[in-house]
Amino acid sequence: MKIIYELCDICGTCVAVCPVDAITVSEFKVEIDNDICTDCLNCLKVCPAKAIEEGE
Ligand code: SF4
Ligand code: SF4
Repeated sequence: MKIIYELCDICGTCVAVCPVDAITVSEFKVEIDNDICTDCLNCLKVCPAKAIEEGE
């Protein structure tokens, strides 16, 4: 999965719904570890800013 940084407002919503804890959030940035991600699409569905898309 890929974060579109121009759209992400670092709300943290995606972090809570990831079943494998592949998403980390800091004060400045959200990151997805694609080595862990299982492509369940939970994060993409809940992102209020539509800032997550498929791909790496
Ligand atoms: S697609 Fe699923 S497994 Fe991958 S980062 Fe998003 S919530 Fe986590
Ligand atoms: S849910 Fe969307 S806007 Fe919120 S931190 Fe995740 S990617 Fe960014």
